Amino acid sequence: MRAPTDHLTLPFFGDAHRALGAELADWTRAQNVDETDDRSACRQWVRLLGDQGWLRFCVPRAFGGALEKLDSRALVLLRETLAFHSPLADFAFAMQGLGSGAITLAGSPQQQAHYLEAVGRGDKIAAFALSEPDAGSDVGAMAMTARVDAPDRVVLEGTKTWISNGGIADFYCVFAKTELTHGTRGITAFIVDAGTAGLDSSEHITVMAPHPLATLRFNHCRIPASAQLGPLNGGFKLAMQTLDIFRASVAGAALGMARRALAEAVAYVRMRPMFGQRLADFQLTQARLGEMAALLDGAALLTYRAAWLRDCVGTATPAQAHTYSAQAAMAKMTATENAQRVIDMALQMHGGMGVRVGTKVESLYRDIRSLRIYEGATEVQQLIIGKFVLKQDAAGARA
Ligand SMILES: Cc1cc2nc3c(=O)[nH]c(=O)nc-3n(C[C@H](O)[C@H](O)[C@H](O)COP(=O)(O)OP(=O)(O)OC[C@H]3O[C@@H](n4cnc5c(N)ncnc54)[C@H](O)[C@@H]3O)c2cc1C
Repeated sequence: MRAPTDHLTLPFFGDAHRALGAELADWTRAQNVDETDDRSACRQWVRLLGDQGWLRFCVPRAFGGALEKLDSRALVLLRETLAFHSPLADFAFAMQGLGSGAITLAGSPQQQAHYLEAVGRGDKIAAFALSEPDAGSDVGAMAMTARVDAPDRVVLEGTKTWISNGGIADFYCVFAKTELTHGTRGITAFIVDAGTAGLDSSEHITVMAPHPLATLRFNHCRIPASAQLGPLNGGFKLAMQTLDIFRASVAGAALGMARRALAEAVAYVRMRPMFGQRLADFQLTQARLGEMAALLDGAALLTYRAAWLRDCVGTATPAQAHTYSAQAAMAKMTATENAQRVIDMALQMHGGMGVRVGTKVESLYRDIRSLRIYEGATEVQQLIIGKFVLKQDAAGARA
């Protein structure tokens, strides 16, 4: 099944986006990866995406990237189209960007040259290690520490969990406390290469859909001081900036899965015989399809608006940054929540076939669930949007 491209005509996109979306829709349809083992499948996707040049959209041009800087609309389109075909392919693509995003934003020239070019070629697999057992939404509660051990050495102690690409990544952007009592203002980022003594990434976590995940244990893990990424105690801001770049693209992935579910539902109801007609002939079915299409289009418009805003208006001033954060939060929340509903409706239309393991709607039903939790759960997005609304209201009252 080929991913739809009608939305590429919307004014949010330029000719380059239209060409990218169409080429990618053809390319993804031709790929066939055995995803029985998510780890080896993920490696294979990174190889394919790297060889074809798609990973070059995860890094800036100065380091082998396709464009001058990361382009939110390209990221959204890439993720949407990949997720339509394979949520695991989307995951493999997205993690190259998210896992290396902090290096793009704040890496030293040496760090950028060493890691980003390899990420863009698919020669190194990246990971982003922020969450801990007792610090998910509440990042400031993290317990992992980084302390200076010798003039040129830092020692990491602690545990990270839910780390995507854990165990298959070549390097991890890790966030740790450098000032124990300073909350989010005492966190610093470091790059830790896989295989560093004291880093154990062997504890895999199995979730309901294919997704390589692990817990990372740092036990007296010594790294050079030059592995520090960005400013001392600037790690929280760096993590949030990295997540902000990719938040609209999570919405793009949800759109891709929802579009696939709608396409599967349409194909199914057209052919399913019922009461002497086809399932598609009944008004109840048509009403449901209409609801699904509207949920999808509403989410798509919010997603493309957020990506367009970041690309074309920017986030240079605090006001622009706040507006983008709120719009990206609206996009992520709406697209992931609506996609879950659309997929559920598509599954319902399939009747028993919808829950049969191996049908596309069954796997989509599992694939979509985590997107409402990671990179800021829906409740966290609601809080971001709510605070923005109150701030706007206060600004309006002062004017
Ligand atoms: C598949 C998957 C992949 C992941 N990949 C990564 C990764 O690569 N790197 C990484 O660092 N982390 C990753 N994570 C972790 C993810 O970011 C966290 O799961 C997420 O931040 C939520 O944290 P938590 O699981 O500890 O839940 P908690 O923070 O304990 O949240 C529990 C519930 O409380 C809600 N909540 C939060 N704040 C409030 C509030 N103020 N008021 C009321 N309710 C609230 C949440 O929305 C949620 O519903 C991944 C998670 C999953 C499931």
